[in-house]
Amino acid sequence: MTRLSAAQALESYRSADLLELGREASAVQKRLHPEGVVTFVGDRNINYTNVCVVGCLFCAFHRRPGDPEGYVLSIDQVVAKVEEAVAGGVTQILLQGGVNPAIPLSYYTELFRAVRRYPVHIHSLSPVEIAFLADREGVDAETILSKLREAGLDSLPGGGAEILSDRPRSIQSPRKIPASRWLSIMETAQRLGMKTTATMVYGSVETPAERIQHLLAIRDLQDRTGGFTAFIPWSYQPKNTSLGGKEAGGAEYLRMVAISRLTLDNVPNLQVSWVTQGLKLAQVALAFGANDFGGTMMEENVVRAAGVTFRARKEDIVAAIREAGYRPAQRDTYYRIRQEF
Ligand code: SF4
Repeated sequence: MTRLSAAQALESYRSADLLELGREASAVQKRLHPEGVVTFVGDRNINYTNVCVVGCLFCAFHRRPGDPEGYVLSIDQVVAKVEEAVAGGVTQILLQGGVNPAIPLSYYTELFRAVRRYPVHIHSLSPVEIAFLADREGVDAETILSKLREAGLDSLPGGGAEILSDRPRSIQSPRKIPASRWLSIMETAQRLGMKTTATMVYGSVETPAERIQHLLAIRDLQDRTGGFTAFIPWSYQPKNTSLGGKEAGGAEYLRMVAISRLTLDNVPNLQVSWVTQGLKLAQVALAFGANDFGGTMMEENVVRAAGVTFRARKEDIVAAIREAGYRPAQRDTYYRIRQEF
């Protein structure tokens, strides 16, 4: 299959028949994953702080410094959550917070050293947090990543990407790192040997061309490093945010999943976002190119702050995958199968 150019991807995204787009994306999914398995990982998100100075307009989760609803979890509190997660079969911990200037670098190194005593993979922090720590310590991102890696950080989730195009970023998150820095921190992490994922939050102020620009930025970096394990698109959740607006619909989600699968020919896995789209639409997305259900999300606070309350137990995810016609399997962070159901 020839690689889609930006113009071809945009044309398909805008004009192709939805079911035809889905058929093409499904053919790619079947070629990449011919065994008919759809995976998920046992994970827990722990938001160690909700205090953030970046103040993205689309974010309902954060609180400004000094806000009475602001919090920082102690290392003991995080460890208690990790213990509970391990007892519940979780293998991946996603620690992510706001950008809180009151938290020293030593908090992160001590935290990771404490968490790594448990049999979990630490898939934590986004390039936004790494950039802030680097700037505050007066060092480069590689120095921060190396220190955190030495303390136990295994891989980076793809948060903070939203739309990797500076025009929409300057509107919805003017104090956030530009697209180029997000990409360069991911490249640095990948060159250090850390795997990462990439996300996309579409449906706010960006144009279709800027969505395609995002996909091509991920594809270009992946050509150089091969460090992305998965791509995860989801729709902007407008409730309780300063930016407001409407949520993109289900057909737009399926179109986005399909064009992602078709454009990102070098990223092996495409995750559905059941936590924002619900299990039923996630099932349908498996026929539009997706092959992974992401995490069991034992705890999730960011999307919930935007008024979205989809919840699922591991059994529900297994049943949803099976009902959609695939073999469910629990994986680890590196997509190695741990258990089939
Ligand atoms: S999205 Fe992240 S960086 Fe932006 S305000 Fe929310 S917590 Fe802060």
